[in-house]
Amino acid sequence: MRHWSIGARLTLWYSLVLLAGLALFGAGVWIVVTHSLTTTIDETLAARTRALATEIQNEYKPSKPSHLVEELSEYAAATPDGNLTEVRDPQGILIGEGVDATTASSRHYRRLESEATVGGQKYRILVAAPLAGTELTLRRLREVLLWSAPAVLLIGSLGGYWMSRRALEPVDEITRAAQTIGIENLSRRLEVPGAGDELQRLSETWNSMLARLEAAVKRLSQFTADASHELRTPIALIRATAELTLRRERSAETYREALRQIMDDTDRTTRLIDDLLLLARSDAGLPALPMDRVELTPLVRDICEQGQILAQERQLEISTEAPEQPVFVDANDPALRRLLLLLVDNAVKYTPAGGQITVSVAMDTSGPTVTVRDTGIGIPDAALPHVFERFYRVEESRNREAGGAGLGLSIAQWIAERHHARLEAESVVGRGSAFRVRFPQA
Ligand code: ADP
Repeated sequence: MRHWSIGARLTLWYSLVLLAGLALFGAGVWIVVTHSLTTTIDETLAARTRALATEIQNEYKPSKPSHLVEELSEYAAATPDGNLTEVRDPQGILIGEGVDATTASSRHYRRLESEATVGGQKYRILVAAPLAGTELTLRRLREVLLWSAPAVLLIGSLGGYWMSRRALEPVDEITRAAQTIGIENLSRRLEVPGAGDELQRLSETWNSMLARLEAAVKRLSQFTADASHELRTPIALIRATAELTLRRERSAETYREALRQIMDDTDRTTRLIDDLLLLARSDAGLPALPMDRVELTPLVRDICEQGQILAQERQLEISTEAPEQPVFVDANDPALRRLLLLLVDNAVKYTPAGGQITVSVAMDTSGPTVTVRDTGIGIPDAALPHVFERFYRVEESRNREAGGAGLGLSIAQWIAERHHARLEAESVVGRGSAFRVRFPQA
């Protein structure tokens, strides 16, 4: 049964139900007809007995017993089935017609015995009726039932099979169409039947799944292309530095300088590769990060201390704001540090000398938040929705020297997501930006 098609299974069940229904119907008809035929015969027999008893009562004359005998013979002769009537006087002597012994005992006859009391005398009455008619009717009925049931069953099952095949045909079509779709033609879609039924929903679900897959595959290939592109630049730079230096004999100082340059570039490349690896792993769906209860204020102060070193180089001021009472979140400590450091690092990178960076912890109605605010160059409105995209940079030129590959905020957002937190950005060009992490209510 496990390998049967749905159509075959439906038909089997349908036939079984039909068979049970037919059996019940046949048995019911049989019982009702048999009962009503027997009842009719019994009523006729009872009526005949009553008529005979009345006859005996009317014609009984104590002075002339022979009169009753004569009257009964006449009565019997005048009634159909008269020969199936028998009346015996109190002594057991037959006084009116006779039912022969074979008839009386045969199972093809139905009999009714009764008594009539006249003048203190008990007369025994026996009437019989042939069952031949009833038997014939029942035999025909049985034939009709036995022949029609398999016919109905056969027609019903074939019809059921045909209907289920018809109903399921679109499923086969969907299967066939789905089989032709692979990674190379992910933009293909299944035809959606307009019937508004389960199959339409199935096709639509398939199509939206294909759309999601297509988008994911596109993102992946875009990522691979962008990643290769990003890696080419620093490696080309390293090669160029080496080549240029080797062109002719140089002083020890120049060699040292070139090697230092190469080391810096290698460091940047390593960081880039680390970021790429992290994002690639995040796509593969890493197991959940182990979460702890983390107090936000001390952690934020730590980050700011680290940021201080970066900020001082660029003559920026960095400060923290936090409420008096401790604010806790469920977080993975190292991941959360990385996220905040990325935001502080950006604030430092995109704020000109003399600017101000504030990292504040707050308890909002929606839950705990950490905001990194700067008085930097800001982000244009058109670019704001894209800053979390991988490899996205606002105007390549303005931050080439800052060395970002456009991966920082995608990593920050990925970390936020793993914390069920939201990362929001607001910014005014020339005034500054604010990046806010909104944690869910603990
Ligand atoms: P990058 O490594 O280039 O900094 P990110 O993903 O961290 O990449 O940021 C994407 C882009 O968003 C950056 O190129 C920058 O233009 C813009 N950006 C990010 N943070 C800030 C900020 N605090 N102020 C202004 N622009 C920002």
